[in-house]
Amino acid sequence: MSTPAPSASPLPPARDKLLFTPGPLTTSASVKQAMLRDLGSRDEAFLEAVREVRARLLALYGLSPAAGWEAILLQGSGTYAVEAMVSSIVPRTAPAKLLALVNGAYGERLIQMAAVHGIACTPLRAREDTPIDPAAVRAALEADRALTHVSLVHVETTSGVLNPLRAIGEVVRAAGRTFLVDAMSSFGALPIEFEAAGIDVLASSANKCLEGTPGLAFVLARRSVLERSQGQARTLTLDLCAQWRGLEKDGQFRFTPPTHVLLALRQALHELELEGGVAGRERRYRANHQRLRGGMEALGFASYVPAASSSPIISTFLYPRHPRFDFQDFYRRLSARGYLIYPGKLTQADCFRLGNIGRLFAGDVDALLAAVPAVLNEMGVELSK
Ligand SMILES: *Cc1c(COP(=O)(O)O)cnc(C)c1O
Repeated sequence: MSTPAPSASPLPPARDKLLFTPGPLTTSASVKQAMLRDLGSRDEAFLEAVREVRARLLALYGLSPAAGWEAILLQGSGTYAVEAMVSSIVPRTAPAKLLALVNGAYGERLIQMAAVHGIACTPLRAREDTPIDPAAVRAALEADRALTHVSLVHVETTSGVLNPLRAIGEVVRAAGRTFLVDAMSSFGALPIEFEAAGIDVLASSANKCLEGTPGLAFVLARRSVLERSQGQARTLTLDLCAQWRGLEKDGQFRFTPPTHVLLALRQALHELELEGGVAGRERRYRANHQRLRGGMEALGFASYVPAASSSPIISTFLYPRHPRFDFQDFYRRLSARGYLIYPGKLTQADCFRLGNIGRLFAGDVDALLAAVPAVLNEMGVELSK
């Protein structure tokens, strides 16, 4: 058998599956089209895109270099930015200790990072369906004066629980500690009060609520905190201060940048602005979320996180107790119909998750909500309502 000749321009499938996952997400055709260019990493056209993206990331939340804030772009997925934040900002040569606030897998990952980098770390854990309690944070900081830094995951994407960022930040600031935030699945779609919440450094990525493509992460940081971290990083590639100084010096990344992904992010940021900025995106995600959560509950599924503690990003549902319900089968049948969902990563309950972020609208949610009972019917699963 001869192998087919490679086609110069393979056609994409007529329609990709819709991604009801926490990321990567369904993106717009125009975001994907923005990547159909080959720019040199030192070309002025690319450097201009870098400048624009850095400025827009700050401006989304009313921040600017003039007000003391810097945006640092970094190659890699979101975890790279979180690891850059932890391993660069917590000092290496001075006494330091991290209080890691944990109510899910991403909080646990921060503890792993601390262990890898030899950072002293005390975890403060809550259940996966429960927000972190600011009073518990205050008590922990009062009990251990050696704690210098506090880390929080804003929306713990494991379950979708929304942590009280501002209230916790006020406690951290009043206690004079440095506040590090993983805002991967909230940045771009939820309000973040950087100053009122006393945020010092925040990490996020291109491919969640910003609706860009994967491969680019970023950190927003107070310049004073960045400057203090000079020479403290534990790695070369994830050295935030060095990456920032590189961007400031000649506008360039220190190592090969994901040029196509950056162009996609620039387009995605334009589309975010057209949607009405953070508030506009939040409106669509909240409408998607209410439709999806309400629709699933009407079908007989039980939500794992109480509505009052849930973010408008993702919903977690308990496996139905029906003997014929098998998650893998459910997943495969939905996938065959064009809907990709996400198995739960929860350690405390058998759950699956439905994300509602990305280029998804009410009609997409309704289509999924029509497919679910059809699939259950094929499986012979009846839910009591
Ligand atoms: C998605 C996510 C991350 C990063 O995940 P990557 O797979 O590295 O992009 C980190 N924290 C939270 C809360 C997330 O939702």
